Amino acid sequence: MKQWDVIVVGAGPAGITAALAARLSGASVLLVEESGFLGGLAASGLPLLTFHDRSGRQVVKGIPQTIVDRLIADEACIGHVNTVGVSHHGSVTPIIPEPAKLSFHEMLAEQGVEIYLETRVVDAIMSGQQVVGVTIFGRNGLDALGAKVVVDCSGDGDLMAASGAAYSVGRDKDSLAQSMTLQFTLANVNVEKAVEFFSENIWYGLRPGEDEASIIHCSGDMDKGYVEGTKFKGFWAMSLHPDEFTINATDIAGKNPLSNKEFTEAHLIGRRQIKSIYQSLKNNVPGFEKSYVASSHCVMGVRESRRLRGLYCVTQDDVLDGAKFDDVIAINGYCMDMHDPDGEGITFSFGSLTSHIPYRSLVPSDVDGLLVAGRCISATHEAMAALRVMTNCMSTGQAAGTAAALCAKQNLNPRELDVALLQSVLRKDGAILED
Ligand SMILES: Cc1cc2nc3c(=O)[nH]c(=O)nc-3n(C[C@H](O)[C@H](O)[C@H](O)COP(=O)(O)OP(=O)(O)OC[C@H]3O[C@@H](n4cnc5c(N)ncnc54)[C@H](O)[C@@H]3O)c2cc1C
Repeated sequence: MKQWDVIVVGAGPAGITAALAARLSGASVLLVEESGFLGGLAASGLPLLTFHDRSGRQVVKGIPQTIVDRLIADEACIGHVNTVGVSHHGSVTPIIPEPAKLSFHEMLAEQGVEIYLETRVVDAIMSGQQVVGVTIFGRNGLDALGAKVVVDCSGDGDLMAASGAAYSVGRDKDSLAQSMTLQFTLANVNVEKAVEFFSENIWYGLRPGEDEASIIHCSGDMDKGYVEGTKFKGFWAMSLHPDEFTINATDIAGKNPLSNKEFTEAHLIGRRQIKSIYQSLKNNVPGFEKSYVASSHCVMGVRESRRLRGLYCVTQDDVLDGAKFDDVIAINGYCMDMHDPDGEGITFSFGSLTSHIPYRSLVPSDVDGLLVAGRCISATHEAMAALRVMTNCMSTGQAAGTAAALCAKQNLNPRELDVALLQSVLRKDGAILED
């Protein structure tokens, strides 16, 4: 069986950062991704939230910042745009998907991360309670690959579920998770006219400085009746090119993202909502008269599915009260942003500007050889409404990747790792652990 120190499952914001971190700490690393590009939802037109807390203080740096710097150099990102006072976060970091896919791939390949694209991890290889590798289905069919430590960054926690690690899904009372969204891009939009119209109903509109005038992040009110077929009370839109709007507005509630049948039904609902939203915009909003649906995102946007039940479970109180932990590995600067599982819209809850994310929330309580990063770490349904944003996924990715490399080097299980050593490496690599 071919062997690596660290195998990372999934190449979204968590997986990219985990793979880079493990490699920079000296491990041999394989990154396995089921789609044909790197980035996950970071390559979908969504901006990274949020490197800064609501006061504007930068709370995430380290490898996530290095990735942003490289994206800027590759013209795939304009950097952090200050949103203090105009929105519920301290900054947005817009990513331009197509150049970003190349940039992500090059920055990992240059560091010597091995990458298997269009390859799905389908099972965990176990020795008792220890993960010792993964089964993949790729270009050669089924294959078995060995690793000292596996980092699950699949979003859905596929590997942790396959390993038998304990996990939860959705809210406590009925396991329903936050609603899903199928994003889409409209082309041939007169963005200036559209934004002028929305400014009457706007929650928030952002136009960075003169040089970046074509990049607009805004949100608007959908309660005015011009969008039918969705209960969603508003939309978020990103204009990365002069005539385009990428719209985050469909709201698919009450469907289980882990059921083949219901997930497929969710896609059909999402496509019908896209049609309805598009027709409403085209018929009612100046600027959209000649627009057309250029694309929908290649995967359904799942906000929440499996969440690890790890050594510690981050709670709503931890996020809102600004909990501090001795084993802090990242600082969260985002509020709770809950997309109602019943489809009743978004609720924002604000508390402390920052809260700690502890190492224990990345570590399974019952399985060895495994770490988890991204939106499947150990947190309650409510806390995940804050922790799921991409900057947190990147910083938990940095911590998990670094921890995996340290464990591989010392032949330790993640539960046995000296957290003070991990923290010292994270600090050396630029991570902020003080708030
Ligand atoms: C509609 C929507 C809007 C959002 N808006 C924002 C926003 O504006 N800003 C923000 O910061 N966050 C936003 N979020 C949250 C954020 O995008 C996600 O929580 C975040 O991308 C999760 O990162 P991740 O790396 O854990 O997972 P993902 O980004 O989902 O990446 C997981 C990767 O793993 C791969 N994968 C999955 N299973 C396997 C497998 N078995 N084998 C191999 N590969 C696998 C997938 O193909 C994917 O590339 C939004 C989420 C949604 C759904």
